[in-house]
Amino acid sequence: MDSLGYIQSAEKDLLHTYNRYGVVLEKGRDVYLFDTNGKKYLDFAAGIAVCALGYGNEEYKAALKEQVDKLLHTSNLYYNAPVIEAARLLKRASGMDRVFFTNSGAEAVEGAIKAAKKYAYTRDGHGGHEIIAMQGSFHGRTIGALSVTGNGHYREPFEPLLPGIRFARFNDLDSVKEQASEKTCAVIMETVQGEGGIYPAEKEFIEGVAKLCRERDILFILDEIQCGMGRSGKMFAWQHYDVKPDIMAAAKALGCGVPVGAFVMTERVAQKSLVPGDHGTTYGGNPFAGAAVRTVLEIMERDKITEHVQEIGGYLWERLEGLRRKHECIVDHRGIGLMQGLSVSVPVGEVSRKALEKGLVLITAGADVIRFVPPLVIEEEHVDLMVQILDGILP
Ligand SMILES: *Cc1c(COP(=O)(O)O)cnc(C)c1O
Repeated sequence: MDSLGYIQSAEKDLLHTYNRYGVVLEKGRDVYLFDTNGKKYLDFAAGIAVCALGYGNEEYKAALKEQVDKLLHTSNLYYNAPVIEAARLLKRASGMDRVFFTNSGAEAVEGAIKAAKKYAYTRDGHGGHEIIAMQGSFHGRTIGALSVTGNGHYREPFEPLLPGIRFARFNDLDSVKEQASEKTCAVIMETVQGEGGIYPAEKEFIEGVAKLCRERDILFILDEIQCGMGRSGKMFAWQHYDVKPDIMAAAKALGCGVPVGAFVMTERVAQKSLVPGDHGTTYGGNPFAGAAVRTVLEIMERDKITEHVQEIGGYLWERLEGLRRKHECIVDHRGIGLMQGLSVSVPVGEVSRKALEKGLVLITAGADVIRFVPPLVIEEEHVDLMVQILDGILP
């Protein structure tokens, strides 16, 4: 079948929940993707901040192939070595204590919410607690995750959602304080808002929220699904600040393409939280996912990926600042590490479509932001090529 045939078939057979770009991607190499017509694309999206190691990393591929030959799945009724090793590495990278592996980011957020509710239930002997979430946030598409997602467009058709969710303004400490009460069991936020338009938490804000949470025994939940796993220039973006979450959600680059997420908590939370019977998953943390996570963390640590991201992220920042000086349509430039955004006054959908035509994969965020979340292994030459293409597209 040719690419048009695939696209026509997809539009008949798949539920139409995405307006897809008109290309059928077939393979990847290094930081490039190839479609079924053999056209080559420089990838600055990484499958939405997932493919941190790029494509075709030999060590990663070998680890997955080895695990395919051994065992894919066991269920969580038994132990398996890859996931135990993965948990140990994730604990070391985060300095946190207890890991639950899921199949996706949304499920990691679901688990984090359940863990927080259970903690407050154990402490107080009753339910009915509230959660504070942020306007403009994104935490996933399941009902629980959607309930803490501060985007009316995503929420409205599915209301009523979870009760007891209060929204505060991101980077506005007073608005969080206003929503806090003795009923509050948790505050959930992204350390760097991603889908909402690439907004890093300001230092005073995130540290103020963490302090408020500490003082009132409110659990501080950070969603590191997009900004975590080295993307910010630290393993987890919260490590840039003087804070530590009680519960953290990870996914996306955690498996670099193998679907896996995790919620991770401190021992203090774990002691009052989920126990046998409270939570589970058939697939979550199976040997195959475990092998992926273990290998990704091994490679990232050994190759000091965070140092590379700091360097190349700085270079990307400078080059985008250059574009900003040249193009009046660039209104703002935000971000950290290899998670940056340009907010522009031209339609962003058109920018990403034109980029694709010219062999550059670029995605958007919010209503007006060009989002840069490339594989973490990009080099200066790739930034240069991307900037050259984008320079030719922006008016
Ligand atoms: C992508 C994302 C999610 C949802 O992850 P899925 O794997 O798509 O369920 C949640 N939170 C943030 C910050 C994300 O970027």
